[in-house]
Amino acid sequence: MIKKILIANRGEIAVRVIRACREIGIATVAVYSEIDSDALHVQLADEAVCIGPASSRDSYLNIQNILSACVLTGADAVHPGFGFLSENSKFAKMCAECNIKFIGPNYDAIELMGNKAKAREIMKAADVPVVPGYEGKIEDENQALSIAKEIEFPVMIKAAAGGGGKGIRIAFNEEEFLSGYNTAKSEAKVNFGDDTIYIEKYIQHPKHIEIQIIGDEHGNVVHLGERDCSAQRKNQKVLEEAPSTVLTEETRNMMGEIAKRAAKAVNYNSVGTIEFLYESTGRFYFMEMNTRIQVEHPITEMVTGIDLIKEQISVADGNELSFSQDDIVLSGHSIECRINAEDPKANFRPCPGLIEAVNFPGGFGVRVDSAIYGGYKIPHCYDSMIAKLIVHGKTRNEAINKMKRALAEFAIEGVTTNIDFQYEILNSEEFVNGSYDTSFLTEKLVNR
Ligand code: ADP
Ligand code: ADP
Ligand code: MG
Repeated sequence: MIKKILIANRGEIAVRVIRACREIGIATVAVYSEIDSDALHVQLADEAVCIGPASSRDSYLNIQNILSACVLTGADAVHPGFGFLSENSKFAKMCAECNIKFIGPNYDAIELMGNKAKAREIMKAADVPVVPGYEGKIEDENQALSIAKEIEFPVMIKAAAGGGGKGIRIAFNEEEFLSGYNTAKSEAKVNFGDDTIYIEKYIQHPKHIEIQIIGDEHGNVVHLGERDCSAQRKNQKVLEEAPSTVLTEETRNMMGEIAKRAAKAVNYNSVGTIEFLYESTGRFYFMEMNTRIQVEHPITEMVTGIDLIKEQISVADGNELSFSQDDIVLSGHSIECRINAEDPKANFRPCPGLIEAVNFPGGFGVRVDSAIYGGYKIPHCYDSMIAKLIVHGKTRNEAINKMKRALAEFAIEGVTTNIDFQYEILNSEEFVNGSYDTSFLTEKLVNR
């Protein structure tokens, strides 16, 4: 039985995991970098260990220091959160070798799904529809260009090891392709230490629809419906909702069953997400699988009533899933707004700094997942997301009105945020009628 969990992360997701542990009676260990000594997750955990200097490479990505902290505190499991080491199969394997439970899927699943090109191959073999593309080895620029021409422009150039919207370029013609190929390659090298590239068809004006799944060690896999994450800027999610306005019950079940098939192909035994591109014709394609808890998991929790972190810990402990597919009932509508310390009026430049005061919204159906407080200084060296504002309403319309009310109550003094920008999204015609796709934010609200 898991008795003590070390959380190898920071910010709101570390707080989220600590909260779940406390409710189920598991002790917690926070780890932190030198610049994070005042962070909320450090204050909320039972114990805390400093694992190095501010730079992520030396702290939150420092496997040796994190494993030493486990040994030092007697933690018997590690929760990796999202980002950082969460999709690092080497880390998962090293945890196992040290007899520490990695709260995530088996490391072969991470390895196979972590590389987008390899994942495509596995999905094709499992009869899952993928975006038309080429996942073989690309030797050089010339070969890449002839592949692009064969697929036909426009194409998307992607870092195989990519994540967080980085290492992605769109090319509508040869010229854009050659420059995009080289910048994607160098961005991939810098961010992921792996410059493997692959090329797929650029789907125009799709929706991003993803299916939450969860599996256990006993071969059970259940899907928990979809999230619509089409409100994006620079291929990164800004606002998410569940359910999607465009799925019929029939399509939802079909996508859910395909997602389960994808998960079973790698003996998936934790929470995970299968991301799809969905065309207005109703055709959809597998895009990637994220083998970890997702940023926007709370909206699924709100419509299913299931605590995904508690269930993730339970299956990591060897238990069977506490529900079956027939037990899953989707109820009402949920929306999440990612609140970032950034300036939408200055090209979304990050705005770290001192939070002088903060007032969190509240009330029926409102949830705030955050690690900020009055007097907290947002460091410059990490992600700019400082809170997730989540609402749940009986209908989509109620959820929208609730979110607008909650955004208006959310007061943060000292740093600039995207709260007003989120308000604009909720007021836009495309969002209100539900027709918005992945280009809508950039085309309609950013580049006006
Ligand atoms: P989600 O897919 O859960 O919505 P994002 O794509 O927004 O999440 O990524 C969540 C966080 O994890 C961000 O801080 C992002 O920069 C980081 N991240 C995601 N994938 C990777 C990766 N492969 N390598 C490094 N960081 C990543
Ligand atoms: P990441 O690992 O960074 O999340 P993804 O492969 O999930 O990368 O792609 C990020 C976003 O880019 C998607 O949510 C989608 O909006 C867009 N995208 C990815 N592939 C395609 C494609 N082939 N055609 C159109 N848009 C795409
Ligand atoms: Mg993605």
